[in-house]
Amino acid sequence: MTKDNKLALVTGAAGGIGSGIAQTLIQNGWNVALNDLDSASVTALKDELKKEATKAGLRLEAISGDVSKEEDVELAFETITDRFQTAPDLLINNAGIQTWKPLLELTLKEWERTLATNLTGCFLNTRCFAQHAIKNNQGGAIINIGSGCNKLAFPQLVDYNASKGGIEMLTKAAALELGPYNIRVNCIAPGAIETPRTKSEAGDYQASWSRLTPLRRIGLPSDVAAAVLLLVDDSATFISGQTLGVDGGLFAQAIWPENY
Ligand code: NAD
Repeated sequence: MTKDNKLALVTGAAGGIGSGIAQTLIQNGWNVALNDLDSASVTALKDELKKEATKAGLRLEAISGDVSKEEDVELAFETITDRFQTAPDLLINNAGIQTWKPLLELTLKEWERTLATNLTGCFLNTRCFAQHAIKNNQGGAIINIGSGCNKLAFPQLVDYNASKGGIEMLTKAAALELGPYNIRVNCIAPGAIETPRTKSEAGDYQASWSRLTPLRRIGLPSDVAAAVLLLVDDSATFISGQTLGVDGGLFAQAIWPENY
């Protein structure tokens, strides 16, 4: 995007991938609004990145809120417009959670919480972003953070699988309807990315996922952030409705007997 004073909103920004994306955007000339449910962590992230942003003449704000709540999302966009004096040009729908449980043990509450955060949150932010962008006739880009399980079912992650499959279709449906307003909508499907959360989920996270990944390494938040830069580059203005895997080839491979 060539516009001066570009503004990005990153949801779930206090987490591993979100904070990596926010930092990369700042390093590439974007003003950034950081959203997260965890108000202490998002404020700490703002304090951490503030020096870098100020040095580059950029603005950075932390806006805590729940992406699954309509009133929080609407308030966040009003606050952003007020503080930055412009609506976001880029929305990164990154906030995401999961429940590690077999289908037979998954409670309705757990199912609803994941769907509300991952899918409804994505919808609510997309709608609000588009309403503001259309009102200002400014166009824009939306990037949804999906997963390899947009297309392949992961074991014991029923709610997560369903929500990410939904994100794949929401990306296409939104691209269709928002294209005429010059709003592009794409999805990034990360593979195994090392974050504090994923590291804590498996003791040998790096070793086990590197072995399965054709490029023989796990990904980093900076790999996902690099794909964000690709999709917002001026050379990408005809790309919409697509999912870009950032997985070292992990989800390109079929199951094959001698590999297992
Ligand atoms: P993470 O747990 O480190 O970060 C998620 C962030 O979202 C947290 O800061 C959390 O507080 C925030 N959040 C949770 N519920 C929220 C809500 N209702 N409203 C606002 N914020 C909320 O996770 P991560 O590994 O950085 O993953 C980020 C995204 O990338 C997720 O959508 C995840 O599904 C996706 N992803 C991650 C990997 C990976 O290997 N790390 C792989 C594929 C996809």
